[in-house]
Amino acid sequence: AQVPVNVTVTGAAGQIGYALLFRIASGQLLGPDTPVNLRLLEIPQAVQAAEGTAMELDDCAFPLLRSVDVFDDARQAFDGANVALLVGARPRTKGMERGDLLEANGGIFKPQGEAINAGAADDVRVLVVGNPANSNALIAQAHAPDVPAEQFTAMTRLDHNRALSQLAKKLNVQVSEIKKLTIWGNHSATQYPDIFHAEVNGTTGAAAVNDQAWLENEFIPTVAKRGAAIIEARGASSAASAANAAIDHVYDWVNGTPEGDWTSAAVMSDGSYGVPEGLISSFPVVSRGGQWEIVQGLEIDSFSRERIDVSVKELSEEREAIAKLGLV
Ligand code: NDP
Repeated sequence: AQVPVNVTVTGAAGQIGYALLFRIASGQLLGPDTPVNLRLLEIPQAVQAAEGTAMELDDCAFPLLRSVDVFDDARQAFDGANVALLVGARPRTKGMERGDLLEANGGIFKPQGEAINAGAADDVRVLVVGNPANSNALIAQAHAPDVPAEQFTAMTRLDHNRALSQLAKKLNVQVSEIKKLTIWGNHSATQYPDIFHAEVNGTTGAAAVNDQAWLENEFIPTVAKRGAAIIEARGASSAASAANAAIDHVYDWVNGTPEGDWTSAAVMSDGSYGVPEGLISSFPVVSRGGQWEIVQGLEIDSFSRERIDVSVKELSEEREAIAKLGLV
């Protein structure tokens, strides 16, 4: 029998948590043969709600779910964690400056990084979903010096999936016919969805579209502002699609990306594509042997360069702001 994998989820009582936990417990995160122990972290006020979700998880009688534990203490929650999904974050509220937002999140992600450093398994894989995700990931990573920096990632898979879906609609093809799309930069409105290296049934993405006005005025803004459009339509932020993307990210990280394709994830920059070393920025990535690798050697034209630079500059500014606060 397989050894169960410990999966820690923060913000477990939130909307994304509710959409995520049942899929993890059913085997969609790690595959149909891998049992899981779920370790849920919440703030004290939300522990009771998380206990309710734990009851529902019990009531599903998932064969792969070995245990569910609820904590309000990060050290306990991350003890032995193999996978850590950092979903809970301090949302931006009206009138809140970026500095305040980063500071509030520092109060969450610094102790979580320390707890991961202290007690997580050696192979821990960390995915930060809670916004501002890239900088939150950087804060946690900075406080986990004993964990390889490559083990800290932030989610741009939802942006990637949104881009796939928009492009498939435009070209009237199945999403499965599109390969090698890329999200670059920050998980924010400055992100750059790049179709120039995409392949659509053997044709490059830009050539297949051949519509520069659509690319600039519809595709890029639609992908970047999709979150706001969902809030407008649903009256609540996206939750199931964010949870789905988190599942996709970890599944691919553990099981590998398919040959002949890549995906997007925010990983620690090694200086590739002019992105300053040490920023957690989205890149085209493949997963091999359980590790993300940045796809190398892509030619970046001036249109893409300009947009990547804008998003990366924003990441550099966020890093400066959290450095000023002593958080990295
Ligand atoms: P959600 O579950 O909807 O969202 C959680 C986080 O995910 C937010 O930071 C949100 O960012 C982010 N996010 C990233 N991508 C997306 C996306 N595509 N769509 C929507 N959200 C996205 O928030 P809830 O308020 O429902 O739940 C948060 C829970 O976290 C609460 O139960 C709270 O108690 C808990 N929490 C736990 C902490 C802990 O465990 N220590 C710390 C802080 C909070 P954005 O706000 O920008 O939408």
